[in-house]
Amino acid sequence: MQELAIKFNVKNVEFQGETAKHEIDDKSPSIVRDFNKCILCRRCVATCKNVQNIGAIDCINRGFDSCISTTYDNSLNDVNCTFCGQCIEACPTGALREREYIDDVWAKLKDPDTYVIAQTAPAVRVALGEEFGMEIGTNVTGKMVSGLKRLGFDKVFDTNTAADFTIMEEATEFLERFKNKEHLPMMTSCCPAWVRFTETEYPENIPHLSSCKSPHQMFGAILKSYYAKKNDIAPEKIFVVSVMPCIAKKYESKREEMKIDGICDVDCVITTRELARMIKQANIEFTKLDDESFDHPMGEATGAGAIFGATGGVMEAALRTAYELITKEELKELNFEEVRGEKGVKKATIKIGDAEVKVAVAHGLGNARKVSEQIKNGEADYDFLEVMACPGGCIMGGGQPIKSSKIRSEVDIRRKRSEAIYAIDEKSVIRKSHKNPIMQEIYKQYIGEPGGHKAHELLHTHYSEKEKYCIDE
Ligand code: SF4
Ligand code: SF4
Repeated sequence: MQELAIKFNVKNVEFQGETAKHEIDDKSPSIVRDFNKCILCRRCVATCKNVQNIGAIDCINRGFDSCISTTYDNSLNDVNCTFCGQCIEACPTGALREREYIDDVWAKLKDPDTYVIAQTAPAVRVALGEEFGMEIGTNVTGKMVSGLKRLGFDKVFDTNTAADFTIMEEATEFLERFKNKEHLPMMTSCCPAWVRFTETEYPENIPHLSSCKSPHQMFGAILKSYYAKKNDIAPEKIFVVSVMPCIAKKYESKREEMKIDGICDVDCVITTRELARMIKQANIEFTKLDDESFDHPMGEATGAGAIFGATGGVMEAALRTAYELITKEELKELNFEEVRGEKGVKKATIKIGDAEVKVAVAHGLGNARKVSEQIKNGEADYDFLEVMACPGGCIMGGGQPIKSSKIRSEVDIRRKRSEAIYAIDEKSVIRKSHKNPIMQEIYKQYIGEPGGHKAHELLHTHYSEKEKYCIDE
């Protein structure tokens, strides 16, 4: 619709008449609702209810008074919205959009006393180019790093490095629980929308969640402790900006549980779309940029970190590491095809040494509800569960470039972006998280053992029940 408005030079609405006035809801750290822009197409309602199976929003009233609202007309912050952002991807007018933090980032970049670090999630590099007219699924890692450096970031690091830490911690935690048969299946915790979904809809399943922070939060904690100390920078002077395909990560970074001694692990989260806006605001010709590499040493990552961006990727990366940790033998076949692909819930039994590990992978909150019900009712026949709230995983996150319904119906966007992610893994020199040299060095010099005291202090967290209002009740 916005494309059509530009094409036909529609700048103002010439027809006068009565219009409904709605207050802008900007209470949530993730989403802004401006229903003055709403055309009541109800795409957001259909996505939230039918795809994500949440029902946080619905159409209320009749005739002229019709509008999209929440339970008790609360802010999205105060209902069972998970901040998955899938409604934003569906909205044609921008009535639903991410809460933007661009001005905060510009202010810090201009402040000579602040050391501003960017870290970028695996899914951003296979979608950012689309905002500049490039083919869907183009890997623009080098240009993205180059663009961030031109914007003025002091350092540009790779969140994939932190994904390797996540695997070390999560695999260690899983092996312990598997040995003791405790709180199985263990559920991954790197998707903040899935964590919020569990906290609001299935609080009885909280003990099943891994206590690991998500990769970007782990990275923030390491940057403000190990990295700050090593480079003699006061942690308060470091401003960590996570560039993410996700809007739930904005909310996650503001959670009290994500602070250490009152200092946030991550100061600000911007989406793929916001990064593209910043690059455009700075008049950088993105497509003409030369490729640059992430800064050393925190930019060294493995292929296992890269596949976190696609559904099944966290599980596959964890299996590569768990296999070698248990058997002490080299894993020859690294691709676990059983956990790849678009099926809503994938299950597999993997033989690791003498043990048989049963795993499941779900993506999209509709599928998450199915596995959550199984766990709640004690019917889950698997030991380890990966869930990503967005259908397809982070590559289809609520902060990724918005595509018209025409493109969405003609092009398999999920497949193109996911092929680009797996190609990064295939080309990587190191493809197992536990082999990441900088990660090994940091464990040796600073953290100690995976799952140890310091690791828990920096890299783990806890979750608790959150209040839920459901519109259908
Ligand atoms: S962010 Fe997700 S859960 Fe919240 S209203 Fe939108 S689709 Fe529903
Ligand atoms: S998708 Fe956007 S325009 Fe359509 S009903 Fe929802 S908020 Fe309104």
